[in-house]
Amino acid sequence: MCVLDPIRKAWGAPIIVNSGYRSEELNKAVGGAKYSYHMLGMAADIRPQNGLVYKLYYLVVHLFHTGQLGLTECYIDRKRGYIHIAYDIEGFNTWPFISN
Ligand SMILES: [Zn+2]
Repeated sequence: MCVLDPIRKAWGAPIIVNSGYRSEELNKAVGGAKYSYHMLGMAADIRPQNGLVYKLYYLVVHLFHTGQLGLTECYIDRKRGYIHIAYDIEGFNTWPFISN
């Protein structure tokens, strides 16, 4: 996913990527949204290896607002400790939000 490269470059430290593509069964099993971008291979859940999830989140939001990154979805999954990002070239840019 090309969206990850600018994030990795800007962060400059290891980022753990979880759940790129998900089949319909797997998406159901993990309680994903019904029309999850994960099933289209357009989403990833990421977290920094050093655990500073909010710091990475604000970096991603900064990259988005300065036009360095296209994003359709971006929120912190606080339960799982990941940042969910998705990019659909034909989709709308939704305002990043934090979910529980
Ligand atoms: Zn996700």
